[in-house]
Amino acid sequence: MQTNFSKEFLADRQGQRVNEILRKCVHCGFCNATCPTHQVTGDELDGPRGRIYLLKQMFEENEVSRTTLHHLDGCLGCLNCETTCPSGVEFGELAEAGKHALDDKGLRSWHSRIKRWGIRQIFPYPRRFAPLYRLGKWLNLTPEQNTLAVKRPGNAAVNSNGESVLLLHGCVQSVTSPHINQGLAQLLDTLGYETHADDRVKCCGAIHHHNGAPEHALKIIKQNIDAWWPAVERGCSAIVMTASGCGSMVKDYQRILGDDPEYADKARRVSKLTEDASEFLAARSFKKNTSDIETVAFHPPCTLQHDQQITGVVEGILRNSGYRVVDFKEKHLCCGSAGTYSLLQPQMAASLRKNKLAAIEQQQPDIIATANIGCLLHLQQGSTTPVRHWLELISNSP
Ligand code: SF4
Ligand code: SF4
Repeated sequence: MQTNFSKEFLADRQGQRVNEILRKCVHCGFCNATCPTHQVTGDELDGPRGRIYLLKQMFEENEVSRTTLHHLDGCLGCLNCETTCPSGVEFGELAEAGKHALDDKGLRSWHSRIKRWGIRQIFPYPRRFAPLYRLGKWLNLTPEQNTLAVKRPGNAAVNSNGESVLLLHGCVQSVTSPHINQGLAQLLDTLGYETHADDRVKCCGAIHHHNGAPEHALKIIKQNIDAWWPAVERGCSAIVMTASGCGSMVKDYQRILGDDPEYADKARRVSKLTEDASEFLAARSFKKNTSDIETVAFHPPCTLQHDQQITGVVEGILRNSGYRVVDFKEKHLCCGSAGTYSLLQPQMAASLRKNKLAAIEQQQPDIIATANIGCLLHLQQGSTTPVRHWLELISNSP
């Protein structure tokens, strides 16, 4: 794609990246075939190629309208388009730059701004979110989840080989489903590890980063790196994630802080140490025999399969643990959860969930498993089949 940017625009690193990415696009439209929102509406502007044109127009001519806002806000950020692009267009990075630029244009309606502000003020902070979640449960507004008494993680994190492991318990998950983290802690116990989760680390920063407050996200990211750094310097061998959304974000710290003179090296080290729980356990040949053979459909979140490019690993662990894992149609498509997308774009999110559950239910599984708390809660709201984190199926959580 030809671009025509001013010298000023190309003077900074972000402008150069936008230019590089746009120039890779050859307009072929292969990406549209795998875009979930394009499949639902059939509108060119609801697909990646159309969004790329809108982004180009916005960056090149500073031309932006409510139409641009509508179609870019409609993007799930699922990165499915990147998997089918023959030119290696980094759509996610381009769309992120576009969304941050859009946030500065003041085009959003007041209720959209308030909604985003509310999301930023509540979800990343477990102490604020917990009472609201309990109230929602009492009013029957939130999906039922297992709850277990959670053993507070200790500070020691050394196994018999002297390796240490850090955990991130996550903001939403630590409130709605603390037993998932507990399940991982138990599994790590069986491998000889104790777990260490720094209480200062609440949220990975994704909620602020994707909802109009990238500067605040930077603050959170730096605080997290500072909190983890002593353990990293002591030689911790991994930072293990139970939520694939958090894992994607922490693995992205190295890009986000790539030009930061103080934090770039630290961010690179933290990102390289970060592993999804499935990577961590698979690398240690984990398996566990379950007594009942149940049929499981595993829905891989976009953050796991497209962003982190981890495919088939969870399914392998579940099979090795005695489950019958069934495949289903269009496994690559987003379920509509997409971080806070289901709160901001409820109609599209519900439509994608309906399609996803219809494909899964054809296989009549006993359980639907997934790897991210957002997908879990979103799918459970539309399904009578129990939806679980896959770690719950191989740990001793009921
Ligand atoms: S990120 Fe997902 S929703 Fe957005 S354009 Fe790409 S495939 Fe479509
Ligand atoms: S597949 Fe890649 S090169 Fe083709 S239109 Fe989409 S982003 Fe551009």
